[in-house]
Amino acid sequence: MNNTSVTRAVINLSALQHNQQVLKAYAPNSQFLAVVKANAYGHGMVEIARNLSGIYALGVARLNEALVLRHAGITTPIVLFEGFFHADDLETLVTHNLQTVIHSEQQLNAIIECKLDRPLQVWLKLDTGMHRLGFQAEEFEQAYHRLASSANVLQPINLITHFNCADELDNNITATQINTFKSHIKSNSGLNSLANSAATLAWPETHADVIRPGIALYGVSPFANKLAEDFNLQPVMTLKSQLIAVRAHQAGESVGYGATWTAKSDTTLGVVAVGYGDGYPRMAPEGTPVLVNGRLVPIVGRVSMDMLTVDLGNNPTDKVGDDVTLWGEGLPATDVANHIGTIAYELVTKLTSRVALQYVP
Ligand SMILES: *Cc1c(COP(=O)(O)O)cnc(C)c1O
Repeated sequence: MNNTSVTRAVINLSALQHNQQVLKAYAPNSQFLAVVKANAYGHGMVEIARNLSGIYALGVARLNEALVLRHAGITTPIVLFEGFFHADDLETLVTHNLQTVIHSEQQLNAIIECKLDRPLQVWLKLDTGMHRLGFQAEEFEQAYHRLASSANVLQPINLITHFNCADELDNNITATQINTFKSHIKSNSGLNSLANSAATLAWPETHADVIRPGIALYGVSPFANKLAEDFNLQPVMTLKSQLIAVRAHQAGESVGYGATWTAKSDTTLGVVAVGYGDGYPRMAPEGTPVLVNGRLVPIVGRVSMDMLTVDLGNNPTDKVGDDVTLWGEGLPATDVANHIGTIAYELVTKLTSRVALQYVP
């Protein structure tokens, strides 16, 4: 292992393909839109796109993400979930064969009033309860008819909605959203899409024509209280580093900035070469688990920019250069996220450019 890759995110491509098959089996009659926004949730957008086959489309939030894929030679259809932000961008969408969500009056007017060389595939978004993007029920019919009669819009139109509580299995908001969506799609001959990861796994009635899993494709549970392995999903990312120091530590001594933790008894501390400068959250409290040589040990003291410290206990056999897992294989990101008070989505997405992505087949 060379010096540049001591701290790395190992990306397991067979786990990615395995997860794709698992999700497909949940929704065998639906097409598969793989969500690769935010650099494929930190896994490397281009590399992930290259390693998915048999998919209907890729999903990104914004135009600049789609252009990265196109410039890398990816020709799969791409859907922009936030759509375009300026009328000027519509030309670019045509040039690069990008599909767009239409969620607002501004986007609706822009696409109808412009002059395009070729019509665009659109996904009209119905707001069924998230109340972030999308047309309200009252505005939806009119928006649909305006798009249906526009020469700039490829027919038929596709319809989309997004859930805000699908990860809560006993929350009836989702059932209400499903009913609202279904009442609006009766006469639609285009594709209908509702399901994110949580809905794909837990709400079969949402599968419709196209499922849109993101986090589950990366082998991370969309649920706070269920692990990926409960669904036979395998972690794609394993964040690894190494012990760069192993030190005897006496009772009464503190460690790290602010001296926030003091040893109650003699112990051994391990210093791991990962910190908030790599995207490991500074807010991780004492006790957050780290996997060292097959056992979970607690973080002690504050996470600093380049390092964190763990309590290895008495007379450990761990030594400098031993591998350490921060999350992934053997330590679900969901467990780490629950300790920190965040969600695993944020952990995997926030790695910085200092962390090398190391792809393994
Ligand atoms: C991010 C996103 C998804 C994927 O959500 P996951 O919870 O990661 O599966 C699906 N649809 C839309 C519109 C999104 O923005």
